[in-house]
Amino acid sequence: MRSIKWKLIIMYLGLVLIVMIVSGSYILLSLRNIELEKSRQQLELYAEKINDQVLEDNTPEHFQENLMRTVTDAVGIQGNILDANGDTVASTSVLEAPYPVYNDQAIIAAMNGMASFSSGKKSTDTFGLLKEWMSYAAPIKGDNDKVSYIIYTRLDAGDMRSSLDQTTKTIIIAVAISLLLAVIMGYVFAQTLTGPILALTKGAKNMAEGNFEQSLKVRSSDEIGQLTSSFNYMASELTKNMSEISKEKNRLEILLHNMSDGVISFNKDGELMLANTAATEMLGVDQIDMDFSSFIREYDINSGVYLDMGNEPSKKVTFPVGKQFINANFTPYYSTNGKIEGLVVVLQDITEQKKLDDMRKEFVANVSHELRTPLTTVKSYTETLMDGAMEDKEIAMEFLGIIDSEADRMAFLVRDLLQLSRFDNKQVHLDIVEIDMNEFLCLTVKQNKIHAEAKRQELSFEPYSKAVIIHGDRDRVGQVVNNIVTNAMKYSLEQAIIKIYITEDDTYYKVSVKDTGMGISREDLPRIFERFYRVDKARSRAMGGTGLGLAIAKEIMESHGGKLTAESEYGKGTVMTMWFPKESPEEKIKEV
Ligand code: ADP
Repeated sequence: MRSIKWKLIIMYLGLVLIVMIVSGSYILLSLRNIELEKSRQQLELYAEKINDQVLEDNTPEHFQENLMRTVTDAVGIQGNILDANGDTVASTSVLEAPYPVYNDQAIIAAMNGMASFSSGKKSTDTFGLLKEWMSYAAPIKGDNDKVSYIIYTRLDAGDMRSSLDQTTKTIIIAVAISLLLAVIMGYVFAQTLTGPILALTKGAKNMAEGNFEQSLKVRSSDEIGQLTSSFNYMASELTKNMSEISKEKNRLEILLHNMSDGVISFNKDGELMLANTAATEMLGVDQIDMDFSSFIREYDINSGVYLDMGNEPSKKVTFPVGKQFINANFTPYYSTNGKIEGLVVVLQDITEQKKLDDMRKEFVANVSHELRTPLTTVKSYTETLMDGAMEDKEIAMEFLGIIDSEADRMAFLVRDLLQLSRFDNKQVHLDIVEIDMNEFLCLTVKQNKIHAEAKRQELSFEPYSKAVIIHGDRDRVGQVVNNIVTNAMKYSLEQAIIKIYITEDDTYYKVSVKDTGMGISREDLPRIFERFYRVDKARSRAMGGTGLGLAIAKEIMESHGGKLTAESEYGKGTVMTMWFPKESPEEKIKEV
């Protein structure tokens, strides 16, 4: 009953009922009045006729006879003539006396000289049937203005009533039919009205469930039709907007998930809102599933980071995760009315940066340390000389020799450092030429043979079966090969065997120097290319090494588009391999 449909039907019914009742009653009343008027006229007319035809020129004895003659003209009407006392003297309802006695209001009025009608009076007719009559009594006055006779006409009102009843019945049937039609029409009308409303309601529900791509049929151009087209327009606009929003969201999500920085966000209750891929990777977990306080506890962050940081600007905290160092920047974010809505944590992996920082510090410390030793030596020998040792020429010469070698050592160190710094600043110019490695290595072996023999070591090179032409700077390549061969001799005991040989793969010629020396432990192996890294510092220094040789060699190889690798087994020996690219490295070198 709550639906518009039923309301409309009821309204329709009510309206029709009211209209029909009002109009039916009006019609019935009017009809009744018309009928009454008609009957009155008939009664009046008949009375006049009696007056004209019976009373005017007839004597009372002929009343009955003459009266009977007038009957035929007025069907259904009884005519009577009464004397001044109200006694019937002639009547159309009987053929002869005794005449019926009438008792009617209208007769009394006529006796008093007034013509009048009366209706609704019930009395029996000649056959003894009780009937409702409509009557008219008119006084006929004599010469002295006294009532001499009364003409009394009456009419069976039953006919009129039954005709009115018939009309009433017809009207009731019409009302019933109208009501039925009203129900049908109301239903149809309500259906046309509520159909689109229901469709709109369904459409709105669908839309609420996320189905924006729908178009409702516009069946009319009325208000509901306009509402439907507005709804369709709204749906299409929403679809457009939603697709824009989802595109934007996707873009942001892609951006967020492809960022190298980790992003985690918490709401003001500390619940996790989002965490991107970089964040999970940095924290070394599959999924971040913790609230703010667990996050703080888990990573032991306790340096003044709170969920509600008030108006404080962002706060930076560095914490370790395994071997990594993570820098977290905590920044509160606010709603438009300035209230804190939550916290965004941006994570950066600063392990490399920290490593570089540490390396830089270590490098400065190393350089200072490397320079301090020879400087101290130079200083102390100079002071000793100045204190009088100069007098003894032999001692003086010996001291000067030491000072000279320490100065050389500092010079080598500075030379190596300069060379490294040039590589760092990409200021190295390479003079690329074709180098026949078979020939080049033969020469290297020849030059170093004397040193090897001094240590009774066996240094050999077995030329490669075919010509090996590489592209490189002759001096720099020579520097790398010499450094590696010297290291092999330096870090091998007497009688060690040092072999140089060439191999190749699809992209590289590989020059390897294999020794049977002391080898390098597994922990030290990855570090030997670091600046100043020496496995045995004292031994290296004693042999005049700066700890920069392999670092420079590595830089040179890389500037040639190649690489330098080491394999070693502690106590057994080492294989150092120089990888020279087969293709001309000119393109790459030009960039250096
Ligand atoms: P250094 O001036 O000390 O020789 P390098 O950079 O040339 O510096 O070498 C770094 C370290 O690597 C050396 O101190 C040494 O401990 C180790 N090393 C290099 N080559 C060999 C080798 N063939 N066998 C064993 N250890 C080696």
